[in-house]
Amino acid sequence: MVESRSQRRKTHLVRVGDVAIGGDAPIVVQSMTNTDTADAQKTAEQVAALAQAGSEIVRITVDRPESAAAVPRIREMLEKQGVNVPLVGDFHYNGHKLLSDYPECAKALDKLRINPGNVGFRDKRDRQFSEIIEIALNYDKPVRIGVNWGSLDQELLTKLMDENAEAEVPVSAKEVLHEAIVQSALLSAERAEVLGMEPNKIILSAKVSAVQDLVSVYQKLSDRSSYALHLGLTEAGMGIKGIVSSTAGLSILLQQGIGDTIRISLTPKPGGDRTEEVRVAQEILQSMDLRAFIPVVTACPGCGRTTSTVFQELASEIEGHISTRMPYWKQHFPGVEKLNFAVMGCIVNGPGESKHADIGISLPGTGESPAAPVFIDGKKVTTLRGDNIAGEFKDIIEDYISDRFGNA
Ligand code: SF4
Repeated sequence: MVESRSQRRKTHLVRVGDVAIGGDAPIVVQSMTNTDTADAQKTAEQVAALAQAGSEIVRITVDRPESAAAVPRIREMLEKQGVNVPLVGDFHYNGHKLLSDYPECAKALDKLRINPGNVGFRDKRDRQFSEIIEIALNYDKPVRIGVNWGSLDQELLTKLMDENAEAEVPVSAKEVLHEAIVQSALLSAERAEVLGMEPNKIILSAKVSAVQDLVSVYQKLSDRSSYALHLGLTEAGMGIKGIVSSTAGLSILLQQGIGDTIRISLTPKPGGDRTEEVRVAQEILQSMDLRAFIPVVTACPGCGRTTSTVFQELASEIEGHISTRMPYWKQHFPGVEKLNFAVMGCIVNGPGESKHADIGISLPGTGESPAAPVFIDGKKVTTLRGDNIAGEFKDIIEDYISDRFGNA
């Protein structure tokens, strides 16, 4: 729900294409492709898949002339499919050159991501940073100043380390590192403002790969600026580890009202589904009651009272039904994403939990009579029996959604 967002720290509202980030806007889910951007066809397909999964902004790598040349083609291919998700170009080292050599690339992008640690070295750094900001200003594009501790500005870090060594009360090396990350973002934003960029065109991120570092860095960043903040744990890792550590870090910050847009940096398994990072981001926001994307299925974990697989099969069939039907429901039944279903394994908590849900079913546990009471809006409405409990329960769900949201 959006209520808890009144606690959110107020940041500047930034427009990225048609999407608003910061201010009072809902927290935005974004993702990044892992295709070679020079392969326009494959990249457009993956952007479309990410957008279809619910990514509201998609970032693509722009690392060489072929990639920069492909960006306008990607935009065109997406437009032909009716996909107008904002595209962000991710630039390192040669962004200033690619953007000036390929103006159509700059025009086709909705935001430019600059990493201050990778924009150039020594005297070239300020000049190349200024060139990118000037291009962003010319095309009226917002920027994300995205610091990453894997590519932190080493000159700044060394300077702060030296100062700390001479301080009367030196702090730990880790604290200096955090300060360098925060300063790198803030000094770059300040430089962008001096060059004429308004604060409502600047988003900051300061990504690290350990949860406690992430919390500490973003708290400092939020305390010391009002720029919209992009949250993410970088290099979160694969599978459960990546999901858990991202959820842990982001949840602490989101609960403190910090963060305007999030990305989950999961490493997919070979041939894995890139859209998983979008679903994880949505789940984090939905489970924290910050946004609603899809009806929630509350299912008990099962225990010794559920010795058959009927309960797991039904829970998974209902989840699958919801995902398949969601695009249709979303279009025809606005508000459906706030529904709560319960699929419970036995009489112990089944009826109680089902009554709390909009629609709930309590399956028979081991030794219980083979009947499954169904509850709608807290009241028992029927009891299902026989071999087609899943099919009948899905029909009940469809009727309920159409009755409740049909006239919305
Ligand atoms: S509701 Fe029943 S089956 Fe599910 S965990 Fe509780 S006791 Fe076990």
